[in-house]
Amino acid sequence: MDTHKPLSDTQGLIISKTTGAYGVMLEQLSLPLRSASGMLRDHPNPSTPLRVAGGSATAGGGELKSCTLTSRLRPEQVVVGDRVRLAGGQIVEVLPRRNQLARRGVPSRPGAHTFEQVIAANVDQVAPVFAAANPAPKWNLLDRYLAVAGALDLPALIVLTKADLARAEEDELCAALDEYRRLGYRVAQTSAESGAGVDDLRAGLSGRVTLLLGKSGVGKTSLLNALEPGLGLRVAGVSAATGKGRHTTTQVALFPLAGGDDGAGGVIDTPGTREFGLWDVDPDELALFFPEMRPLVGQCKFGLDCRHDEEPGCAIRQAVLGGQISPRRYQSYMRLRTEG
Ligand code: GDP
Ligand code: ZN
Repeated sequence: MDTHKPLSDTQGLIISKTTGAYGVMLEQLSLPLRSASGMLRDHPNPSTPLRVAGGSATAGGGELKSCTLTSRLRPEQVVVGDRVRLAGGQIVEVLPRRNQLARRGVPSRPGAHTFEQVIAANVDQVAPVFAAANPAPKWNLLDRYLAVAGALDLPALIVLTKADLARAEEDELCAALDEYRRLGYRVAQTSAESGAGVDDLRAGLSGRVTLLLGKSGVGKTSLLNALEPGLGLRVAGVSAATGKGRHTTTQVALFPLAGGDDGAGGVIDTPGTREFGLWDVDPDELALFFPEMRPLVGQCKFGLDCRHDEEPGCAIRQAVLGGQISPRRYQSYMRLRTEG
């Protein structure tokens, strides 16, 4: 993959953000830190040296270290996942972003104008995380996450956890997962308990920055620990630290994964109750983010004005009736269209 250029000796990767300071991953220790006001910390898991980038991972050679740095840039200009230029021990510039993820900010007072809050940059893929059971998967929510990925123009990797609990509902579950595979989504079936599927998942995450989406209780912590000892605990630690109090900002952090052959990637966890919504997606465009509906957009009798509801000559309803689009996916679509 060419998405991860190695960090140069004057560049860093933002992995966390708190008031006035940024956690920055560096490949080389020499230059920026000699004069850095920040502290140098060993990587939390020093036994697994981290490397950036694909083919050039070893060429870069250095073990990644993280440190805390300040910046005179405005806080809203720097987000987790940003690649930044460093000079004089400070962050001086944000390099151009490939993409950015936003969610609706909290209005400063009731009724105030809501604004877009960018919370991460340079994400490669989205991974909705669901348990096979306990709690039972909510397909509606998965469809929402997949539409969010589509709206961001990012590929999705569906991660099923607790596969060891699947026995009783196996048929229904397999059918549902097969349906998503037919739609072109990758699916990783995993169990932290048995270790099944963990290597596949590791391969699916390797060399990329992945945004995890999933409710607490689905087994994210256990799964991340199965991937890499201590990783889940670090993620949970950050989430818990911000769990209380309505004035605490939701912390988003990038947790590096030890590199495989493709080099290192990382996972971004997005704690907090505010979902990535589809609030900035025009309802009339939503069908574009359902792969089975996309080719039919514009084919209805009323063209792009069709709401795909009760209109005569609706190509999407026709496809539902004809069995090409599953009624369940169609219901998810209609629900998202009205509820956002
Ligand atoms: P999180 O809130 O998403 O981080 O979920 P946790 O990792 O804390 O797990 C929630 C519950 O599910 C705990 O009681 C775990 O023991 C259980 N759990 C997690 N992974 C598995 C698994 O693979 N199999 C089974 N049977 N239980 C699991
Ligand atoms: Zn229609």
